[in-house]
Amino acid sequence: MTDGDSVKDDTVLPFQVGETAVRGRLVRLAGALDEILTAHRFPDPVSELIGEAVCLVSMMGAALKFDGKFIFQAQGDGPVTVAVADYSVGGGLRATATIGDGPFERGAAALLGKGHLAMTIDQGPDMERYQGVTPIEGARLAAAAVSYFDQSEQIPTAVKLAVGRFQAPGAKEQWRAGGIMAQFVPGEGGSRERGEEILMGAEDREAWDRTSAFIETVQDDELLDPVISAETLLYRLFHEDGVRVFDPQPLRAACGCNHDKISAVLERYSAADLGDMVEDGWIRVTCEFCRKEYRFTPAGQPEGGS
Ligand SMILES: [Zn+2]
Repeated sequence: MTDGDSVKDDTVLPFQVGETAVRGRLVRLAGALDEILTAHRFPDPVSELIGEAVCLVSMMGAALKFDGKFIFQAQGDGPVTVAVADYSVGGGLRATATIGDGPFERGAAALLGKGHLAMTIDQGPDMERYQGVTPIEGARLAAAAVSYFDQSEQIPTAVKLAVGRFQAPGAKEQWRAGGIMAQFVPGEGGSRERGEEILMGAEDREAWDRTSAFIETVQDDELLDPVISAETLLYRLFHEDGVRVFDPQPLRAACGCNHDKISAVLERYSAADLGDMVEDGWIRVTCEFCRKEYRFTPAGQPEGGS
């Protein structure tokens, strides 16, 4: 395979293994993730955790059929008290975390401690919001995600995630991430009622066991190295059964914050409270997701606004 037909960075590639009910997605993130993580300047282990969460929401969110968001949220008693990542239909990604004093050691268990993991599908005010919540289990976020799908949705799931800094020759160092997840989802086009029990025949079981074992073998560098294309990696893993790939879906860093949204938050404060926020003649508000700074007059009017 040549570079010409390889799927680019910042995309999710949906795939199906042979004619089985095993469907998956492979994500490769570079510029979009680098933009998100560079804005925050978290300690590296925290950036890695957030990068893993961004991989997860990219792979999960890309399955949404309507307008809306897929939101990952983890809350715990560790040095990272809250971690949030979300995907908006169309491929917009953002993420943030609330961190304490550390120490910041690698892995979801060390960083988040004891707590809960929630995944939410929010398809707007006219649609029912779906949220699953489970305890955080497993040393790494991939294991926690597998446990979530097992407990909350009863869907056999395999996940591998990797995040790291990477420097291409002649380019500046950049955060990259890669992830692969597969699920056993029988039914027409993989559709199924939420909570419906999944029945696996012997053949299904064999196909699923093989897939999850292959995904277990994926190395971090296979997920991160831009020289190994997404298609090459899928072919390496599933050449026995055959693998079908669908249209790649683009991803980008996109927060969606603006003066109006921040204004709406400021309107909840009293004039006295607003007065307390003034520094050097301005009220400054920094977006918790993209770290963009907004300035308002002491009366709460946006900078340059009327
Ligand atoms: Zn923002």
